[in-house]
Amino acid sequence: MRPEILYPFFADTVSLPGVGGRIAALLEKILGRRVVDIFWHLPVDIIDRRACPPLSEIKYDQTVTVKVTIDKHDAPPRGTRRPYRVWCHDDSGSLQLIFFHAKGNYILRQLPVGELRLISGKVEVFNEQLQMSHPDYMVSPDKQDDIPDVEPVYPLTAGISSKIMTKIARGALERLVSLPEWQDISLRTREAWPSWMEAVKAAHMPQNHGDLQMNSPARARLAYDEFLANQLALEIMRRQNQKKKGRSLKTQGLLRAQLLENLPYQLTNAQNRCIGEIEKDLAQPYAMMRLLQGDVGSGKTVVALMAMLIAVENNVQAAMIAPTEILARQHYVSLRDMTAGMDVTIAVLTGRDKGRARKKLLDDLQAGEIDILVGTHALFQKDVVYHDLAFAVVDEQHRFGVEQRMALSAKGAGAMDVLAMTATPIPRSLTLTAYGDMDSSRLDEKPPGRKPVDTRIIPLGRLDEVVQGIKRALVGGNRAFWICPLVEESEVLDIAAAEERYRHLEQVFGARVGLVHGKMKPKEKDDVMTRFVAGDIDILVATTVVEVGVNVPEATIMIIEHAERFGLSQLHQLRGRIGRGLEKSTCLLLYGNLSGGAAKARLEIMRETEDGFRIAEEDLRLRGAGELLGTRQSGMPDFKVASLEENGQLIAVARDDARLIMEKDPELKSERGQALRILLYLFERDEGVKYLTSG
Ligand code: ADP
Ligand code: MG
Repeated sequence: MRPEILYPFFADTVSLPGVGGRIAALLEKILGRRVVDIFWHLPVDIIDRRACPPLSEIKYDQTVTVKVTIDKHDAPPRGTRRPYRVWCHDDSGSLQLIFFHAKGNYILRQLPVGELRLISGKVEVFNEQLQMSHPDYMVSPDKQDDIPDVEPVYPLTAGISSKIMTKIARGALERLVSLPEWQDISLRTREAWPSWMEAVKAAHMPQNHGDLQMNSPARARLAYDEFLANQLALEIMRRQNQKKKGRSLKTQGLLRAQLLENLPYQLTNAQNRCIGEIEKDLAQPYAMMRLLQGDVGSGKTVVALMAMLIAVENNVQAAMIAPTEILARQHYVSLRDMTAGMDVTIAVLTGRDKGRARKKLLDDLQAGEIDILVGTHALFQKDVVYHDLAFAVVDEQHRFGVEQRMALSAKGAGAMDVLAMTATPIPRSLTLTAYGDMDSSRLDEKPPGRKPVDTRIIPLGRLDEVVQGIKRALVGGNRAFWICPLVEESEVLDIAAAEERYRHLEQVFGARVGLVHGKMKPKEKDDVMTRFVAGDIDILVATTVVEVGVNVPEATIMIIEHAERFGLSQLHQLRGRIGRGLEKSTCLLLYGNLSGGAAKARLEIMRETEDGFRIAEEDLRLRGAGELLGTRQSGMPDFKVASLEENGQLIAVARDDARLIMEKDPELKSERGQALRILLYLFERDEGVKYLTSG
C-alpha cells in the first residue's frame, strides 16, 4: 500500500489549479495523469530576463527587460492585416512593439502614451530597427517584481503554452512536502546533494544553463534516487528468488537426443553453451531466473525448446509467452514442427481462443495432458489453471515488466524456473539497470551460412527509384517488408501514413501488396501475414507493431521509411527479419531528414555492422538525451528523470548501495529502511515491497 504521505503526489492532475479535463488529457499525452508526473517533467531550457541594456546596446536578437517611455500608438485601419504598432524609447534609442490581431483598447490601457513601462521579451533587429512582437511582460515600474528574472522552459505539446505549463508546474510544486531522507548521509554530504524536496524545486527553477545539466546537484540527486529505487527493487526481487526453493529438474537427455535427431542442422557452440548453463540452473534446487540475450536469428527458439524438454522429461509443464498473437502462433508452429514424431504435446492459447475449444484446452491443461503451452498474455488469465507448471519461457522479455513476470510465477506451485529471452542485446553497463535480478546467457554466434545483408542509406526523395528497383527484384521471386515510420504521440497518424503508402504501392504492384497495422483485428492481421508467408503477397507494408520475430525466409528486402526516426536497436531488429534464407538480402534505410549529426552517425553504424551487441553499445553512446525514441524501443527500463547516458556512472554506486542496504536491513525496517520504502513507491518500483514481511 502506498504510504499516505505520497497520496497528494498521486492525485489526478485535474486537481491542480488551471487544469481541467482538456488540459489534463493533453498533459497525459506527454507526461502522465498524476501530479508526480509533473515533478519529473523538467525544464529543458531557461528564459533569462536579467539583461536590461539601454536600447542602443542591443545589436542582436536577445531576450531583455527594458524600461521605456510610450510615445505613440499606430492602430491599423479596420479590415487590414497590418499589425498594431506601439512606438517607445529610452535615452539611447527607440523600439517598436508589434501586436498581431490586437485588441486596440486593451493595448491602449496597458501602454498609455507618455508613461514609463517595463517591457520584457525577445527583441529582434529588423532593418536596424528594434522590434518586439507580443512582449511577454508589460508592467509599470512599480510592478517590477511581476517579471521573473529567469523562467523555465518546459517541453510542450500542442494546446499547452509555455505560460500554462509553467503555471501548472508551479501548482504541482505547491503540493511538495518534505520526505524522510532515504539516502546515505555520507554519500549525500560527499556529493553535496540537496534534500529530495529542495532538489525537485531546484530542478524546476533553474537559474542558469548549468542547472539544466543532469550532473547539477539537484538533478544528479533525483537521478540517483531513481537508480536507487530501481536497484533496490531488483535486489528485493533477486533475494526473493533466491529464497524460493526451486525444483531440481534433472535430465537424462532422452528427449533432447530425439530433438537433435529431428533438427536439420547442428547447434552452434553458443547454443550448446547456453543450453548447458540453463541445464545446470534447472538441476539446482532453487528457482532459475535467467536472461538469454541473442540477436534476431541467433536461434533462441531451439535453445528454449531444449530447456522446456527438460521440464517435460520431469513430467511437469512448461509455458512459453510471446508478446504478440502472431509470434505466439509462429512459435507454436516451429515447436510443433521441431518435435514432430516425439511424445510431446504442445498447444497454443491466445486471446483469440474462445468458447468450446478454449474450454477443452483448459481442461487438458489442468489434467496435465498438455506438456508445453505457448501463448500471449492470455496465459496469465485467471481461469488458466495448470496441472503443474514448473518452467516458463518469456520471449521478448522487455515487453513484460516485473509485474507480469510475477503474475506468471503465481501460476506455478511455489518456485518457478524462468528463462527470459530478448533479441535486444543490452550494453553490459546497462544490464544492471534492466536485469539486475537475473543471471544472463549470451548467444553471441549466429548459425552458419547467413549472408551479410547489403544495407544502403538512401534519401526519401529517391523513392521512385526504390520502387522501380523492387519491381525488378520481385520478378526474381523476392519478397519485401516495407516498414512505415513511427509517428510520435499518435498511432492514428501512424496508420494513416501506412495506409497511404499501401495505396501508393498498390497502384504499382496491384493486389500483391498487403498491409498490417496495430489497429487491425488479430484475425485480419494474421490473414495478411499468412498470405505473405505463403507468397500470395510480395510486399508487406507494416507499422512497427509487427516488428518482432516474424519469420519469412523468402523475404529478402527490407525497406524502412524515415529510418532516422527509429532507434538503432529497433532498426537492427527490423533488419533481422531478412537475411534468413539462401538469397542475398538488401536493407534500404530511407531517410527524410538527417539534420542532426547523430541521426547520420546512427544510420552509418547500421551500414557498418550487423553485430547486435556492438550496435547496442553504439546506440547508447550516440543517443542524446531527448532522443527518447531509442530508449523506449530498446527494452531499457524507462527512467523518469535519470539519464542513462549522463548519470550512468551512478548506477553501479546505487547497485552497491542497494545490496548493502538489503544485507543490513533485509526487511527495510530501520528508519532509513522506512524512508526507502517511500522511495520505492515514489518511483513506482514497489512490486517487491509486499515480500518484505513487516510494513
Ligand atoms: P531468434 O533468436 O531470432 O528467435 P530463431 O530461433 O527464430 O531465432 O532461429 C532463426 C532461424 O535459424 C530458424 O529458422 C532456425 O530454424 C534456424 N536455426 C537455429 N539454430 C540453427 C543452427 N544451429 N543452425 C542452422 N540454423 C539454425
Ligand atoms: Mg525469436
